[in-house]
Order: sequence, then C-alpha cells, then structure tokens
Amino acid sequence: MQQPKKIAVIGSGFGGLSAAIRLAAKGHEVIIFEKHDKPGGRAYQYEINGFKFDGGPTVITAPHQYDELFELAGKKREDYMTLVPLDPFYRIFDGKGDHFDYWRSQEHTEAEIKKYSPNDIAGYRKFIKGVTDIFHWFHPFTEKSFPTLWSFLRIFPHVIKTGTWRSMYAFAAHFIKHDFIRKVASFHPLLVGGNPFDTPSIYGLIIQFEKQWGIHYCMGGTGAIVKALCRLFEDCGGTIQLNSEVQQIIIHNKQAKGVQLKDGSVYEADEVVCNGDVAFAYKNYIPNTLLPKQMNFWLSNLQYSNSLVVIYFGTKKKYTNSKLSHHNLILGNKYNKLMRDIFQRKILPRELGLYLHMPSKTDATIAPEGCDCFYVLSLVPNLDGKINWNELMDEYVDKVLGFLEENYLPELRSNIVAKHAVTPLHFQNNLNSYKGAAFSIKPSMMQSGYFRPQVKSKWFDNLYFVGAGVHPGAGVPAVMASGKIAAAAIEQ
Ligand SMILES: Cc1cc2nc3c(=O)[nH]c(=O)nc-3n(C[C@H](O)[C@H](O)[C@H](O)COP(=O)(O)OP(=O)(O)OC[C@H]3O[C@@H](n4cnc5c(N)ncnc54)[C@H](O)[C@@H]3O)c2cc1C
Repeated sequence: MQQPKKIAVIGSGFGGLSAAIRLAAKGHEVIIFEKHDKPGGRAYQYEINGFKFDGGPTVITAPHQYDELFELAGKKREDYMTLVPLDPFYRIFDGKGDHFDYWRSQEHTEAEIKKYSPNDIAGYRKFIKGVTDIFHWFHPFTEKSFPTLWSFLRIFPHVIKTGTWRSMYAFAAHFIKHDFIRKVASFHPLLVGGNPFDTPSIYGLIIQFEKQWGIHYCMGGTGAIVKALCRLFEDCGGTIQLNSEVQQIIIHNKQAKGVQLKDGSVYEADEVVCNGDVAFAYKNYIPNTLLPKQMNFWLSNLQYSNSLVVIYFGTKKKYTNSKLSHHNLILGNKYNKLMRDIFQRKILPRELGLYLHMPSKTDATIAPEGCDCFYVLSLVPNLDGKINWNELMDEYVDKVLGFLEENYLPELRSNIVAKHAVTPLHFQNNLNSYKGAAFSIKPSMMQSGYFRPQVKSKWFDNLYFVGAGVHPGAGVPAVMASGKIAAAAIEQ
C-alpha cells in the first residue's frame, strides 16, 4: 500500500459510500461530509409515524457489488444486511386494467407475452439475444473510465455490430410487433433518466444486467443498505460528519487541496472526491475564475434528465386483495405523448406515468402492524419546464392519489396516516442537483462514455467525481461503479 492519504468525500450517496469504503479499507484517512442529518442522498429513508419510506432507489440489483465492498474489508455481507430476491421483477399495467408480469425467467415472461401477442415470442427471443450481446460487449466498459476519445471510439465497431445506434424503443420494435410488448421490452432507460424513444439501446444492457443477477430487496428497505454501508465504512476507520454542507472545494495551482464547509471551517485533504452532482459542483463549489472558459457553456448546454414528483404514503389498512405487486409500472394509454411532453416539450403532461412501490408486500417491518407502505413516483420535466411547483404541488399530489384511489387502491385518501411529497425543487434545493434533474445528465450517445464527465477531473488534479452525473451514469450499480473507478484512480 502507498502512504495513507487524507481524503475528503463530499456526500454520502451510493457513489460516495462506494468510493469511501474502498479507500478506508485500504487504510486511508477518509471523512465524508454530508449536508443532511442522515446519509444516503437519494436513498435517504424518511421515518414517519412508524412507517419507513425509502426516498429513491428500490430496485436493487447486483449483490456482488456489495459483496466486493464487504470482502475488501474482510467482512461478510450477511452480517450487515439481508437481501431477498424478488420475482416477478415488475408488474406493468397497460392502461386498460390488464397487467404483464415481467419475470427473471424467459419461460415465465414468454407465457405473459402469449396472453397479449403469441406471434411475438420468436421476436422477443431475438430481442433478448440482442440485449445479451449488448451486455456482453458493453458491460465491461461500465467499470473503466474513458480518458481519451480514442479509448471511446474503439467501442464503435461493437455499436455497429449490435445495432445499438437505434433508440431502445426502436431496437425493441425491430423485433417485436405488439405495441404494449414493445413498451414492456424498452422501458429500462426510464430507470436512469432517459426517454426510451431516444436513449440509445446500449442502455439495454440494464435488461440483461437485471436478468444476470436478479432483482433484490433489502429487509428494512434500501435505507438498511445505506445503514449497513455506513457501518462498514466506520468499521474500516472512516468518519461520517452529518449536517455538514461543503461550500467550496479548495483549489491551489489547479490542485484540489481540501474543502471549506458552510460554517467556515476548513478541512485540508490530499484528495477530494465529490459525490455531489457534477454540474452543480463545478458551477457552485469552485470559483468561476478558476474554471476554463468553455466550462459554463458546456455544462449549461448539456441535456439533463427528467425530474420526478414522489409521494410517500402509509395507510391504516392493508390492501391485501389489490392487484398490485412489489414493483408496479403504470404506463398509461398515451405513453408516446407522455414521453414527448416530459423530455422534449418540457410541459406537465395530463397523462400520468407512474411507478408504484409497495414494500410492505415483502417486508412486514417497513410499516406498523395492519398497515401498508407505498411510494408513487410520477415522471415530470426537470426545472427547464418552468412549472411553478410551489403553487401546483398540492393539486398535483391530489391528482396522483385520486388516480390511484380510482384504479388501484379504493378509499385511499381517507386511509392515509403518513404522507410526504417531493417535487423537482427538492432535487434542486435539497440534493443540490442542477435543474432539479432526478438522474443528473441525461443518458444519450453524445453524453455517454468519453462524452460524459469522467470520474477524474480533466481540469484539476486530486479531484474526482462519483455519482449519477459521471460515467457510467445514473442508477445504483452505475454510481457504485464510479466509486470503484475513483478509488482505483486514487490508489494508482
Ligand atoms: C425517486 C428515485 C427512484 C430511483 N429508483 C432507483 C432504483 O430503483 N434503482 C436504481 O438503481 N436507481 C434508482 N434511482 C437512481 C439512483 O437512486 C441514483 O442514481 C443514485 O442513488 C445516485 O447516487 P449518487 O451517488 O449520485 O448520490 P446521491 O444519492 O445524489 O447523493 C449525493 C449526496 O451528496 C450530498 N451533497 C450534495 N452536495 C453536498 C455538499 N455541498 N455538501 C455535503 N453534501 C452534499 C447530498 O446531500 C447527497 O446525500 C432512483 C432515483 C430516484 C430519484
């Protein structure tokens, strides 16, 4: 091992924790500064009236990524947290009251396709072969950085060979005829802030990623994973300082030298790892005069992901006989228009596009006895949309809950005993995300790989970024991978 270094990590999202644990396990002196009173970032867990609401990520994949962290520290994952597999992965409602269960096994999923369109089974098999090839060629690049344009251009023969210049939806449509099955096969970009109609199908690797390692739930919620990782970090000798917002990254001679907190205190460090949103960080934590001239222009002209309204609610009764599963997607009838309104026109759509999480289906500890725990996430434009959320929030929340009451959860509003809601303003003001984007920089061909901000800052030495805005992108597995890339770069 090299000489232990002093390392400051800004933020305790999954990306920050992944980098911090790896570095602390190697014997470095690592301190995390977190703005909030609890760690986790988008995975912050709200506790209200005995309910535990996971703030963000709920679809947990790739347990081996966690195992790797525990093994580095000489520990066992099972001693810190309990993951259970979920199947079906998703229940997808078609807007006409019917649903499609999306399973890990090909055979079970084909049985669902048969209900809608028996003639599409052969095409679906070809589609799955296609995404398996995409996964094979491109997954290895999610754990490496692209330091040069050449290193990125080298993957282009594979792009041509696998047909991944097509959008995710077009890729599915190439093999599948039935419109709803096309949507079922191509929704995955939504999980990382992309529009299935224009996100390149290279992101189809997520489909195979889920099949390869399964979808899991952590007993106690995703918040229990955050707790486990924080405990592991502290067991490795790391320190987490909560309620500590970093105001500035200290730069001397183009080198990061530490951080200054909002209360004025300074922490000197050999390396700085920023888990705060990369665009927000460059614009706010480093004096403008030190940034290259083109930087502001570049950051302002990138495209940013959509945002979300998320409503967390607990009910005093159990919806035992509802048609809901643990993970539910409600795509609606005017899906194409919905996507256009959110991603291109940036207006508030009339139609709703929802993900409904019901963890109390799996975990009795997440809600008081006799109660159910939910969150519903509604896709909305980012703050480029100029929607006045302060004015609209109550009306919008009522619209979403009213829709659920009418179609899925009878008498919902009179049974709610715990509730909290966030709008795009939360992502901007509380999570310090540029334009209130829920998934940072949008995934597109020209904003992926080499063209996405890299983990190692191109402009400042000893400064690294981890999290959704840098390569390989948004989503828990990707930000965990960015933490791995950062730790390896620092170790080098
Ligand atoms: C509602 C929702 C649902 C999602 N569902 C899933 C899912 O099911 N599966 C999945 O894989 N992904 C999901 N995602 C995406 C995933 O949650 C994110 O991509 C990922 O968690 C982001 O992690 P991150 O490392 O970028 O850090 P973040 O979670 O963004 O955390 C950054 C941290 O930095 C802190 N911070 C920022 N600035 C400062 C500062 N100046 N000083 C101190 N601290 C600071 C913040 O407070 C925050 O704690 C979801 C996202 C959302 C919003």
